[in-house]
Parts: sequence; structure tokens; C-alpha cells
Amino acid sequence: MNYTLNEIQKVTKDTFKEFVDKRVMPLAASIDEKAEFPMELFKEVGELGFFGMRYPEEVGGSNMDTVSYSLAVMELARGSLSLAAACTMQSLMATYFLYRLGDEEVRKHFSAALKGAEIGGICMTEPNAGTDLFSLQSKAQVLEDGFVLNGQKTWVTSAPVADFFTVLAKTDKAEGISIFFVPTHLKGVNIGKSIEKLGIKGSVTSEVSFDNVKLPKNYLLGELGDGSKYLREILTEIRIMTAALAVGVATAAFEYALQYSKEREQFGRPICKFQAVKMSFAEMAVQLETAKQYALHAASLSDAGHTQQKEAMIAKLHASECANSICDKASRVLASYGYAMEYPLQRYLRDARFTLIGGGTSEILKINIGKELGL
Ligand SMILES: Cc1cc2nc3c(=O)[nH]c(=O)nc-3n(C[C@H](O)[C@H](O)[C@H](O)COP(=O)(O)OP(=O)(O)OC[C@H]3O[C@@H](n4cnc5c(N)ncnc54)[C@H](O)[C@@H]3O)c2cc1C
Repeated sequence: MNYTLNEIQKVTKDTFKEFVDKRVMPLAASIDEKAEFPMELFKEVGELGFFGMRYPEEVGGSNMDTVSYSLAVMELARGSLSLAAACTMQSLMATYFLYRLGDEEVRKHFSAALKGAEIGGICMTEPNAGTDLFSLQSKAQVLEDGFVLNGQKTWVTSAPVADFFTVLAKTDKAEGISIFFVPTHLKGVNIGKSIEKLGIKGSVTSEVSFDNVKLPKNYLLGELGDGSKYLREILTEIRIMTAALAVGVATAAFEYALQYSKEREQFGRPICKFQAVKMSFAEMAVQLETAKQYALHAASLSDAGHTQQKEAMIAKLHASECANSICDKASRVLASYGYAMEYPLQRYLRDARFTLIGGGTSEILKINIGKELGL
């Protein structure tokens, strides 16, 4: 595989790299310590046009390809996986169904979200429905003039700061899952307390409940019971994006440890001169390069219009497993300082765990890759 970037892709990467170096790197530790949504940086990412990268120009986007988007995600995640997770949620899962299926009123919220003026979230997971999403129990009763929504959701990214949600629920009129647009100011929408997490602490997450929430007819996105059809449309992109998140945090860990190894001296020489340390970096480099190149390969296939569920799953599985392995190896290079809260390795290590879960766990991806192989 020989992969080269075109001019637009190079400029995109450089733009986000410069932004991350100048604005995100200095704030990344405090985003984690405060465990607060990084509102100011989130707005700045919106001003850079990130939220509209994957949408057409006629709706306010910039129609960038998946490769460019992945490069931008890698850079954001190199700076702060908390920020990157919040921003990717806004640019993809929280907004896609509004764009794809919303009427004029709903699309106004989509347009506001592309600018970062409104914040969205997606409510899929429930206390008893995680990987087995289709067992969800939230229910919308179909009335003549709309719907009444009831249910309990959990792990909703950006919920404490959200203006609207895309909600998956079943109805009394159709077998499958339906998708609803739900503004958070509606009566009966309750945002629970934030979930304390191991990592990506600045990407705030909480439980959400819907208690007899009345929704007008136009808040049904798509047709009754057809939600899974629309969900499948963005699965590939979500997996490529999660692979890019993993590559970003792994790059940060790798680069930090590499620099440290050149400065830290033991036995009268920099530790990078020891063969054991060199070998560890060689292993990390192989993991990082293959994860990055394969994620970009999956993105380029997507841009070429090929169906590549399998490649997207391989990209996500490989990148997230490599990222966790790289963070572990990088932490060992710093030894005690990799264990110190004052140094960033512990944050990379904690944050990277998220990439093993979001976009499908490694276990479920392996099962689905097996299915793609006809097993
Ligand atoms: C930081 C974070 C942010 C999140 N944000 C959102 C969000 O914004 N919106 C949202 O809806 N959800 C969100 N989630 C939830 C996420 O999508 C779920 O955690 C994920 O779907 C897994 O579900 P679960 O945690 O309930 O695990 P479970 O489904 O209970 O899985 C537990 C274990 O069993 C394994 N397992 C399950 N089924 C199988 C099977 N068939 N074969 C083999 N192994 C299996 C899994 O791989 C895993 O190891 C978020 C999660 C995290 C951690």
C-alpha cells in the first residue's frame, strides 16, 4: 500500500496540527483535571469548520473527504482525547440524522450545531442495552399528532451541555428501532448526574431519562422502525473515526516518550541509547505506522465509494489495540514518571482505554470481522 496525501489533505493536517500545538496542548492537562467540557476550545474547533467537514457545502459544510477528516481527528486526539471525543460526537453521531432525515425546523438545529452554537448528543445505550442495542427498551407511543417518549439512557456523551439529542427508541407501531429528534429543553427530559470516568474526563457523559416527553410528528427522523437502516449508513465512518482517535492519542504517547528518552540519562547516557529501549520504540513505531496507514487506507476506500465494513472494523480494532499497547510501552519508558500525575503519560494511558469501547468493543469487532470472512 502506497499512501500519499494531496494538497488539501496536507493543508488540513497542518491547520489542525498548528491549532493543537498552540491552543490544545497547553490546556490538555487541565481539561482532564477539571473534568469539565472544554467549551472555549470546542467553539474554536467549530470556527475551524471541523463540525461541517463531512457535510455538503449547500448545508454549511465543507464537503471534505474522509481522509482529511481522519487527519484532523488524529491531530485533535493527539492534543486531547477529551476534546476530540466531544468534537467527533458533534461532527458525526449527534448531527448526521438531523442532516439526513430532518425537516426544515430540525435542520435549523443542524445548522446551529455545525457552527458550534448548539451542542448535540446521541442516546442509544441503555442500562440493559449496550452491545445488544436492539434490545433497547425506550418506547415512543404513537399518537395522532406526534409521540410520547419514555425511557432511560446512559453513557450519553455531552449530555450535561447538550441542546438536543438524537434518541433511539422502539414504538408501539413498528418492530424495529426508530430515531427521534429531542431538544433538551422539552418537559420530561432529565439529565442525570455526570458519570465519573477513568479517562476522557473532559468529554462529559451522563445518564438521561425521558418521562412522558411529547414530541411533534416532524421529530421522527426517517420512517417508523427503520432506524437500523440509517444507523448502518454511518457505522463505517464511526469506526474509521475511532481508529483516528486511537492513532492520535498513541502519537502523543509515542512522541512524548521518544523525547523523554533522549533527555533522561542513566548510567551516564540517554536511556534511548540502551538496546532494550530502542527495541521498544521500534515496536511502537511499527504499531503506530500500521495503525495510521491502515486507518487512512480505510478512509481512502470510503472516499473512493467502495463498501468497506471489514476494512473499517480492522482499522478500528488494530488502531485501538495498538494505541493501548503503545501507551503501555511509552509509560514504561518513563518508569516512575509514567506513573506520576504531573506527567501526561498517565492521561494517555487512561484516555486510550476509551478507544477499545467506543465504535464497538474489540470482542464484537472480532466476531463481526469473522462474519465478513464468511465464518
Ligand atoms: C466514554 C464513553 C462514551 C460513550 N458515549 C456514548 C454515547 O454518546 N451514546 C451512547 O448511546 N452510548 C455511549 N457509550 C456507550 C457505548 O456505546 C457502550 O459502552 C458500548 O456499546 C458497549 O456497551 P456496554 O458498555 O454496555 O458493554 P456490554 O455490551 O455489556 O459488553 C460487556 C462485555 O461483553 C462483551 N460482549 C457483549 N456482547 C458480546 C457478544 N455477542 N459476543 C462477544 N462478546 C460480547 C463486550 O465485548 C464486552 O467485553 C459510551 C461509552 C463510553 C465508555
